[in-house]
Amino acid sequence: MIDLKSMTLMESKEALQAMGEPAFRGKQVFAWLNRGIISFDEMSNLPRSLRERMKAECLLTVPRIARKQLSAKDGTIKYLWELADGNCIESVLMRYHHGNTVCISSQVGCRMGCAFCASTIAGKVRDLTPGEMLDQVMFVQKDAGVPVSNIVLMGIGEPMDNLDAVLKFLEIVNHPDGMNIGMRHISLSTCGVVPGIRRLAELGLQLTLSVSLHAPDEETRSRLMPVNRAYDLEALFTACHDYFRRTGRRISFEYAMIDGVNDQDWQADLIARRLRGMPGHVNLIPLNDVAESPFRPSRRTAAFQKRLESHGVTATVRRSLGGDIDAACGQLRRKAEERGGSQ
Ligand code: SAH
Repeated sequence: MIDLKSMTLMESKEALQAMGEPAFRGKQVFAWLNRGIISFDEMSNLPRSLRERMKAECLLTVPRIARKQLSAKDGTIKYLWELADGNCIESVLMRYHHGNTVCISSQVGCRMGCAFCASTIAGKVRDLTPGEMLDQVMFVQKDAGVPVSNIVLMGIGEPMDNLDAVLKFLEIVNHPDGMNIGMRHISLSTCGVVPGIRRLAELGLQLTLSVSLHAPDEETRSRLMPVNRAYDLEALFTACHDYFRRTGRRISFEYAMIDGVNDQDWQADLIARRLRGMPGHVNLIPLNDVAESPFRPSRRTAAFQKRLESHGVTATVRRSLGGDIDAACGQLRRKAEERGGSQ
């Protein structure tokens, strides 16, 4: 089956030409597929014969809402989507004053193995296609009935472990004939896959790069994040400094505050030292309690923030949304899996 939704405009034109159609049909198809249609019959400006042929030869993914949770506190909506092959992924709609943001998944599961993260417990099942990433944005927008202005790739999965598909998704979602979401309205978060950071730097995209730091010393970081054994802090910060020099874009560093593990003053001092020469921004995240994990939330967040600021480092504490609905990192999918497993 031909997956037209995972194609850029150029590829869509080529695919339609390969089907014996004029190139402009590719542009029409691209526009329809980027509007969240659920049947080829909706492509009303296409000849019926072509629509019938597409039904037979082309894939049209339509994720099903397996579960939906609405936060009574802040309007956050969490979606558990069932994909065509029965796998489930999560997306979250967050309402900020600067616009509606969708947090999307890039893989079914994750193989990065971070010790505090629910998404990685059962490993990676498969990569998502560009179309399946796009679906999350379009169908959240459609279901919630609000315009989406921002995207964060901070759901389940490691975007840089599926970078070809992620880059194609970015090109599609950014296209004026598609959803037309500006690169500056998109954030991509990585656990620190150095070759991916270098590739992104070469492309010079204007998106915001977030790096999940979580510890500034090799020992703690290797314990929390196995990726650090492949790309250590030395290599990571060299790549980050290069990234800033090339793109001029400030990197955001995610830092989940874990009681007694990464919340000591000397660790704040070390963060500041590693950031020297680059206008980094540290985003302190209250640790979400994951039942399977031995880690507990830190009680030193305010002190740690102060310590960072005393070195001139910008540090903010992330406002936690959707705490009442398991909106954190892989928790809904995990619960669904557990229910499935116990049946
Ligand atoms: N794989 C990418 C993106 C997905 S995770 C990455 O690692 O950056 C999005 C963010 O949530 C990451 O910063 C991740 O480290 C963080 N995270 C995972 N589990 C968490 C938890 N229990 N509490 C707080 N943050 C968590």
